Amino acid sequence: MLTEHITFLFMFVSDNVHLHMFSMKKQANGTYYTNRSFLRNFGVLMLILLTPPAAIVFWYTSQNLNGSFLELFRFFGDEGFFKAIYQIWAPVFLGSKTAWIIIAVFAVTEIVLLKILPGKIVKGPITPNGYTPVYKNNGFYSFLTTLFLFWLFGFQLKIFNPAMIYNRFGEILGALNLFSWVFCLLLYFKGIYKPSTPDSGSSGNPLFDYYWGTDLYPHIFGINVKHFTNCRFGMMSWPVLILSFAAKQYEMYGFISDSMIVSVTLQLIYVGIFFYYESGYFNTMDIQEDRAGYYIVWGVMVWIPAVYTLTSHYLVQHPVHLGYGFSAILIITGIISFYTKTSMNRQRINVRKNNGNYKIWGHTARIIKAEYKDEKGKKRESILLVDGWWRVARHFHYVGEILGALCWSLPALFHNFMPYFYVFFLTILLFHRAKRDDVKCRLKYGKYWEEYCKTVPYKVIPGIY
Ligand code: NDP
Repeated sequence: MLTEHITFLFMFVSDNVHLHMFSMKKQANGTYYTNRSFLRNFGVLMLILLTPPAAIVFWYTSQNLNGSFLELFRFFGDEGFFKAIYQIWAPVFLGSKTAWIIIAVFAVTEIVLLKILPGKIVKGPITPNGYTPVYKNNGFYSFLTTLFLFWLFGFQLKIFNPAMIYNRFGEILGALNLFSWVFCLLLYFKGIYKPSTPDSGSSGNPLFDYYWGTDLYPHIFGINVKHFTNCRFGMMSWPVLILSFAAKQYEMYGFISDSMIVSVTLQLIYVGIFFYYESGYFNTMDIQEDRAGYYIVWGVMVWIPAVYTLTSHYLVQHPVHLGYGFSAILIITGIISFYTKTSMNRQRINVRKNNGNYKIWGHTARIIKAEYKDEKGKKRESILLVDGWWRVARHFHYVGEILGALCWSLPALFHNFMPYFYVFFLTILLFHRAKRDDVKCRLKYGKYWEEYCKTVPYKVIPGIY
């Protein structure tokens, strides 16, 4: 299946790319060099070439082929693969005037909200080169304001049709794709010639640099680029898109199905929690590890809108009736899953904030004080939590993440695979990420990590993996 191949490609490439990253050696001038490998370059190139058409093809299949990959393969068979891709992509490749206006209005609104809404200034974790990023922590206010503005101008004042985003989604994805390609190129040059922070530099391989990025924390006009792209653009587009999809279902059928309500509600709760704890996101691998290149920037600006919203997009034309019982089970299970993963994230943040003096589940948390050396060889100390959820498995929050996503996918029932693509992709991404994080932590903490692993031997699911 196409999806399997794409997902396999993701695993193959990211495995290689991350091994590649870890095997990079630092030169005296602070940049990196690496042994070039044809396979790795080929993998990165394939990923850059294949993911954009994949995002567009998902939209097309959901909107025009009944959400059926079988129909898509028939289309490929009838037209030939390249001609079919051309027919799907060409009409939306450049976007449209309306699509560019929608993107510009959304981006400007989010920048203005980021700047004007109140929020504490919080610090992110110190980088290997001693840089401490700072953020304005007003994500939740921005989330609520964005929803309010969408309701006010779309539903109340009727300045625009809320279903318009669904109607123009192909063009929007085309425009986003084009923008992200160019933006990543700009970031690539900026990281080399005018980096914002000391955690920057080239690996000596332009293709890899474009893919991985050249600067960890680029700033443009005083805006932290990853804060904007990952949180305020990518994640913030998600609730707006699914609300537009729900509005489209109403426009088409005169009602919103309970399946759409369950799916959209769970996703809104998920994104709401994300913004409520946005400052916690600044401690994650996306921010700490991944430089601002194609992998993360294109991912959040195109892949999130195209793929994370797929279930709701599919549901527009497939208004399944679930009934109260099944709806309630999905909502409750989804909320428990979100609670588990959020609670695990909070435990780590709080124990570190309180320097280990923190109670978890009624007792003082058990910790390991782990020493490590930063890039400059300076000794530093951190805390590894060996208690609470962190005692169950080293990435047990991934189980909550996956189960929650399954709960908002199940309302589509079992007619097609498409509404499950996101949860399928997420499962592979997170299991691979657990492996990748293990490599990172073993390199960083050495014997302290081994000690933690002895007590907590499983990466994600106790007794299994
Ligand atoms: P984590 O939040 O688990 O962060 C991993 C880091 O935590 C490690 O690199 C290490 O960083 C630190 N750490 C590891 N073990 C311990 C420990 N025992 N005690 C204290 N700190 C520890 O990983 P992610 O960034 O992958 O995930 C963050 C959240 O985002 C999760 O809830 C996840 O489900 C979600 N997520 C969602 C995705 C999606 O697409 N929907 C994708 C990825 C994540 P350090 O160097 O600071 O020690």
